Amino acid sequence: MLKVNILTIFPELFPGFLGSSLTGRALEENKFELRAVNIRDYALDKHKSVDDTPCGGGAGMIMRPDVLGRAISSNHTKGRIIYMSPKGKTLTQSKVKELSNEEELTIICGRFEGIDERIIEAYNIEEISIGDYILTGGEQAALIMLDAVVRLLPGVLGNKASTEDESFEDNLLEYPQYTRPIEWEGRSVPEILLSGHHQKIQDWRKQQQIATTKVRRPDLYKIYLESKKS
Ligand code: SAH
Repeated sequence: MLKVNILTIFPELFPGFLGSSLTGRALEENKFELRAVNIRDYALDKHKSVDDTPCGGGAGMIMRPDVLGRAISSNHTKGRIIYMSPKGKTLTQSKVKELSNEEELTIICGRFEGIDERIIEAYNIEEISIGDYILTGGEQAALIMLDAVVRLLPGVLGNKASTEDESFEDNLLEYPQYTRPIEWEGRSVPEILLSGHHQKIQDWRKQQQIATTKVRRPDLYKIYLESKKS
């Protein structure tokens, strides 16, 4: 079972939306374990301070390495330590898959202007970003990453096939989907999908995937072409 340690100064943000829907059921059924640890519990001074001003000057506050270090060593037993950070590698579905195969993840959620760089070096921490924009805290990023990870855990999604056909599998975006009614406000579902011809439907879907990816995500399309060659 995947065990997740979240290091945060806002433990009340967890499980957050992970407590609802499919991930909520997975949590209830112990398909993964989520422990939100309050970093402040590892502050030793009477004000329980977790941050201080940046050395060299500048705006904002930085999370202290001594407090964070104690929080890490008291809670991490094995596996990766991740810092949610706009400076990290952008999260991809293949990274999500990799994380879903781990036994333990320890995730540091930054606040203020971030954390002292020495923590990242000392604990060999992997930095992961959820996109090129700045959030107020790592908690939101951690929840999004975990939502993507948890849905890949065994037994969480009803239909395993539904993850194999999705956007980013094969480096292609998903084909367009339709359901009943067949006619809606003068628009009909593409004829081919009603034909019952399995092979033709598959071919049409693949061709739609390729066309959409080529237009919307030329970067992904390039990777798709390269992976087909090899
Ligand atoms: N001064 C920092 C941003 C701090 S934002 C910089 O310019 O890089 C405060 C915290 O929010 C960060 O420590 C990080 O944990 C989190 N955060 C902000 N944007 C993020 C993103 N795109 N992905 C992951 N975490 C993010």
